[in-house]
Amino acid sequence: MAIDPILEDPALGDSLLLDLVDGEGIVEDKERKLQQYQESRERKFDLLHTSLELKFDYDSQIVNGSAVLLLKPYFFEQNILELDAKDYEIHEVWQMEGEEHKPLDIQYNQQVLSVQLPRVYTANDTLEIGIRYTARPNENSGMGSSAILDNKGLYFINPEKAEGKPVQIWTQGETEHNSKWYPTIDSPNERATHDIRLTVEEKYITISNGKLASQQLNADGTRTDHWEMDQPHAPYLTAIVVGEFASVQDSLGDLPLRYLVEKQYEKGAKEVFKNTPEMISFFSDLLGVDFPWTKYDQVVVRDFVSGAMENTTISIFMEGLNLDEREAIDSEWDYIIAHELFHQWFGNYVTLESWSNLPLNEAFADYSEYLWTEYKEGKDKADMQHIVALEGYLAEAQEKQEDLIRFYYEDKEDMFDRHSYAKGGRILHMLRRYLGDEAFFASLQHYLERHAYSSVEVHDLRLAFEKVTGKDLNWFFNQWFLSSGHPVLDIQFDYSQPENVLLTISQKQDLNNTPLYQIPFKVSWYKGEERRETYFVLNQAVQQFALENGSGTDLVLFDESLEILTEKHTRHGRQYFEKQAVMSQAGIARYEALDSLSNNYPFDKYMADLFFEALNDDFSSIRELALAKTRTHLDSLTLSEEEEERVLAMAEGDPDNKVRAEAIELLDKIGKDKYAPLFNRLVNDSSYYVAGAALSAYLGNENNSGRENLVNRFLKENNIQLLVPLADYMTNVKDPDRGEWFHSRLESLSGESLYYFIGYYGDYFARLSEIDHGPAIENLYGLAKSHQANYIRLAAFQALFGFIDEDGVLDKVKELNAEEGDSMVRDYQGFFLESYIDED
Ligand SMILES: [Zn+2]
Repeated sequence: MAIDPILEDPALGDSLLLDLVDGEGIVEDKERKLQQYQESRERKFDLLHTSLELKFDYDSQIVNGSAVLLLKPYFFEQNILELDAKDYEIHEVWQMEGEEHKPLDIQYNQQVLSVQLPRVYTANDTLEIGIRYTARPNENSGMGSSAILDNKGLYFINPEKAEGKPVQIWTQGETEHNSKWYPTIDSPNERATHDIRLTVEEKYITISNGKLASQQLNADGTRTDHWEMDQPHAPYLTAIVVGEFASVQDSLGDLPLRYLVEKQYEKGAKEVFKNTPEMISFFSDLLGVDFPWTKYDQVVVRDFVSGAMENTTISIFMEGLNLDEREAIDSEWDYIIAHELFHQWFGNYVTLESWSNLPLNEAFADYSEYLWTEYKEGKDKADMQHIVALEGYLAEAQEKQEDLIRFYYEDKEDMFDRHSYAKGGRILHMLRRYLGDEAFFASLQHYLERHAYSSVEVHDLRLAFEKVTGKDLNWFFNQWFLSSGHPVLDIQFDYSQPENVLLTISQKQDLNNTPLYQIPFKVSWYKGEERRETYFVLNQAVQQFALENGSGTDLVLFDESLEILTEKHTRHGRQYFEKQAVMSQAGIARYEALDSLSNNYPFDKYMADLFFEALNDDFSSIRELALAKTRTHLDSLTLSEEEEERVLAMAEGDPDNKVRAEAIELLDKIGKDKYAPLFNRLVNDSSYYVAGAALSAYLGNENNSGRENLVNRFLKENNIQLLVPLADYMTNVKDPDRGEWFHSRLESLSGESLYYFIGYYGDYFARLSEIDHGPAIENLYGLAKSHQANYIRLAAFQALFGFIDEDGVLDKVKELNAEEGDSMVRDYQGFFLESYIDED
């Protein structure tokens, strides 16, 4: 699964994560830990096949189901069958003996259905058990009256069928939520085939795992779709979607591909998902294992509970991927498309044995984002993603440090953190660099082939690498997968012998909780045009390495491409970074140097020239950084005519639209009036990034004529890049007549756009004291109370603080906090509340 990108934002998370409880005795600590040991589920039965028939009651939001399960005892004899079946009404349980239905005695505690079998069964027997039931996914899905937890398994979207929002049903099984809508052995070390008959209104289409075997019209005007999944997979990967969708057909050889979105996003979907065939063939070639399933559907739904989910043959995405044709020009969703796709191998074909092994799914999916970007957009871009992920992990590591493979945790949902994703992906990157591409991917091929359709723990991965490469890798797996923390390295160069530069590395991490690491690493050095590289292995607390470089060097770099998962402390001065910024062949090292320089040294003429030179860099992130830093320091600079011309050319035609937007912001600061005609023209650019930056620049200058006209022209727009400058303008000029516009946009936006807009919405009303705040407060309260997405509830909660001194708002906010069912949101809310009360 892809974690929701907003709550992943380090800026939001850093200060708020709770400190770990500490200070208890070592025995109590170990006892508590032992009680938290998370064993893999014992396999008493092997589920072979499930046949499901489902009908949906939208009014009561229930599922009427009938399930027939084919099972056999796994090894030991059994006379009781326990199935996960959460919050059902059980109508009937029977055993099929030939054509005969024999009713069976059951015990049911609303979570586990215990079926008393008529005799003892051995591993040589198979048995067929039928269950007729009503599933109530909303039951016990929240703590308070209105709060929602993401454990419903099956979600009715707009079940009252109100205007303006699509009516959908979709499911989310990970971790163990599919047993909210069908009885099963809801454990990742189980895998079975299934077939599902879905009876729906004729206007809806259905999507599920495997292939659509048949469709049948019923006398009552409904239709029954029969989906067959004939390759076994884990229960958490079963999925269904029901709704009205446009279906864009695509293919890769014989493999059918579909992109399913709401009808108005059909053209956008062709663009957003267009790389799918190339991605599948890229990953298949890289892994030496073809895409393992018979079709691949990608569906975008409303109000999804995370970023996306990799159900086998049917990945479900959040509505952020609903883009119109113009928005799709700047689509940046390839990473999430790659992530879910890679899970079809790592997670679905080879599946984690228990949630403790979650990095075996998520580290690979995370690393696929690097692999795809490296292939499609080049190593520099991929390295940039790599560093952002590394920083995300390091930020989380300030709050908690866990073993990557964790056998002890309180809640399995806690496994879905930056350790499992970002740290895991960085570890795979190091392993790849250590072994080389050929060995790394050959080992993955062996791992996939050896464990196809079965479950794995981390040792299976190590053994696959050892088998293929002949190398012992216990040391690597022990320190990275089975320990917590990361190296903190202090790095010093001694240049006193120019022909033999000495490098001293000290490991500074807390050795009580963190290993002393063995780290293979590279040192590269430059002399004139020449670049050389040598390998060392660090395996002491303090260790010296002699470069034996022969002649003098201009620049020596430790781990030039930032491949090692480490917090690095160096004592390089300004000159060092200036050379690194110019000489390094690695884009990420040039970026690192420029970033360090601008953060730590005065932005003088020399620095300005350096940053100006960086506008010509091939790496777009460097061009973007150079423009942004030049803008920040513009007050102390004067640009030459030629330099200004260069910025203008970038605004007009840089190949990267984010760079163009950044250039527009710089021009705005250079000469608002002078460039007004340009901005007025670029508000019509096909890229929303460019148009939004131009609109912001034009509306931000009081001297510009026709600003009101321009605002009125864009009133119907729904793209957040344009809405932000409009909202800013209306708030700044304190136009009291724009309240209706704010209300209507709030109503029409969804997903991330809604998240960002809520802040502007609250700000407008809070700053206009003369208009009635009642409706705005009610709207925010409604979103904070009952929006399905936790980040929207949180944004609305936060926006209410703009009105906190008004009648009853503090009480409302306290009530929301008390009723919130999602513990992470509740903690964030508590933080805001405490800050307010402290201020008071
Ligand atoms: Zn994932």
